[in-house]
Amino acid sequence: MNTEKELYNDYSIKISSIAQGKQMLNFDVPRDFFELLFDDSDFSGTFKLELILDRNNHVFNLEFFFSGKYSGNCNRCLAPLERDASFNEAMVVKETEYGEGEDTDEIIFIDIKDESINIAQLIYEFCRVHYPLRFIHENEGDCDQSVIDKLNADEEENTSETEVDPRWAALNKLK
Ligand SMILES: [Zn+2]
Repeated sequence: MNTEKELYNDYSIKISSIAQGKQMLNFDVPRDFFELLFDDSDFSGTFKLELILDRNNHVFNLEFFFSGKYSGNCNRCLAPLERDASFNEAMVVKETEYGEGEDTDEIIFIDIKDESINIAQLIYEFCRVHYPLRFIHENEGDCDQSVIDKLNADEEENTSETEVDPRWAALNKLK
């Protein structure tokens, strides 16, 4: 098994090895990536990443093409669930000599003395951003029915306890 450092270094691209112009690099993003490097994450997954890297001297245009699947727990029935996902993202990386510039969603700055660009954090951020807000079985019928039944029963219990019309409550006090 990879150590965390080895795994992290798998996503380092040596700048001296990047030719001018466009090239394509392939990366695997396994479950270990999420579970070892970002172990507080509430999701995981396995993705293939195609990275189109376009170098123009000190400026690197990165285009990310992800395809794979997320794994997590269904928000509705809590059962483990996997869902297919594919999405694209882009980022510009610029080498600077004097540390000028503030990182934004579109551009990040690295020191001209840095020997490599590491994309592990970017990969994680992009996967986090595209993780569905509601991670659920597409058909409610695929959910774990025993859990759904229990949730519905709890809800009914709660509503019958709390839903007393305040006007009736006031009347009862007068009696
Ligand atoms: Zn479900």
